[in-house]
Amino acid sequence: VKASYDVVVIGGGIVGCACAYYLSQTFGDMLLLEPGAVGGGATAAGMGHLVVMDDSEAQFALTRYSLELWQELQPELPAAVEYEQRGTLWVAEDEEEWRLLSGKQSFYADRGVEAEVVDGPALSGLEPSLRRGLPGALLTPQDAVIFPMTAAQFLLSRAMSNGCELERTAARQLSGKKITLVDGRVVEGAMVINAAGDHAPMLTEGLNIKPRKGHLVITDRYPSHVRHQLVEVGYLKSAHTMGSESVAFNVQPRATGQLLVGSSRQFVGDDPAFDHALVAKMLARATSFMPSLANLNAVRAWTGFRAATPDKLPLIGPWPFSPGLFVAAGHEGLGVTTSLATGRMLADMVTGLRPAIDPSPYAAARAMNG
Ligand SMILES: Cc1cc2nc3c(=O)[nH]c(=O)nc-3n(C[C@H](O)[C@H](O)[C@H](O)COP(=O)(O)OP(=O)(O)OC[C@H]3O[C@@H](n4cnc5c(N)ncnc54)[C@H](O)[C@@H]3O)c2cc1C
Repeated sequence: VKASYDVVVIGGGIVGCACAYYLSQTFGDMLLLEPGAVGGGATAAGMGHLVVMDDSEAQFALTRYSLELWQELQPELPAAVEYEQRGTLWVAEDEEEWRLLSGKQSFYADRGVEAEVVDGPALSGLEPSLRRGLPGALLTPQDAVIFPMTAAQFLLSRAMSNGCELERTAARQLSGKKITLVDGRVVEGAMVINAAGDHAPMLTEGLNIKPRKGHLVITDRYPSHVRHQLVEVGYLKSAHTMGSESVAFNVQPRATGQLLVGSSRQFVGDDPAFDHALVAKMLARATSFMPSLANLNAVRAWTGFRAATPDKLPLIGPWPFSPGLFVAAGHEGLGVTTSLATGRMLADMVTGLRPAIDPSPYAAARAMNG
């Protein structure tokens, strides 16, 4: 490690790696700090659904832009990233949710994203394992699935071929643009990017990020049991329940033929312990939509932490209280999707280009108000 760099990125999750990827196209003199496996944090714990989400205009703009960037990058992705354009089926559970679908369809279509309402029989044709009698779903065919850890590693390998160094150590303290490493060495960046995920507030006081725990279960290989990423329309309700714990039906077909089954959300600190009662609830929800899941063999289950902000948008941009410091953290349950837009917007900001979407809803400075 040298004493100083043009850019130092703290954190080698998919967000830090995406920042390194885009910034290395301008800055050759870069360092990325990561004490663990690259992409081994929340990135390894997540689902890897690349999804355009309509919770708010700002979330929609960021996810749509990110999906476009993933599509642009797709031809260059190695097979290990397992990019598959599966499409999402937003499954309605009852007549009330079914009636919401046409509004949801118009919202996507009005903003240039393909979306199609499919009725119950058509849904059964698309996904025969779903329970019969469901009223229908909204299909967003452009959404995709990737394997997040190898995607992070790919982005960093590109950055490294542009000159970025990787140091397998943690930052202990950040003071202005000076970083003290755990072993006492000090490095300085003309620009420092805090991309330490849910640990970002430990380095930058005032970042309003809390860990939001999630559980996932993965099955043995059952190719073609599920074809699309399946998410219940009520998923956003689950994502909104900030106070308590919640579960939602969310099943993903992996390139290996395995099924990833989720998902849960809890604010219970940072204890990674497995919550059997909650997972039982999560699986009951999943089997209520897809009874055949009960006959499949689950091979592994784990927990992970989403870096949650109070307004459900990430913190991207300069930290006004410390010149030269930038934040790229707080991506909650969408950071695999939104990593590329984050890196690209930051790179545009620091090189004086106008970002392709308005960055103000994600301004890091708002963390001080909430
Ligand atoms: C159950 C679950 C399901 C999810 N599903 C999806 C999904 O389907 N689609 C989607 O888009 N997103 C999903 N997510 C969210 C997504 O996984 C995260 O938003 C994303 O991985 C965040 O990436 P990150 O780089 O910010 O954080 P991380 O991957 O946590 O990376 C931060 C890195 O910083 C390092 N670090 C921490 N402290 C320091 C320090 N002091 N010095 C140096 N390095 C440090 C850590 O070791 C870590 O590797 C899911 C998350 C969970 C938990």
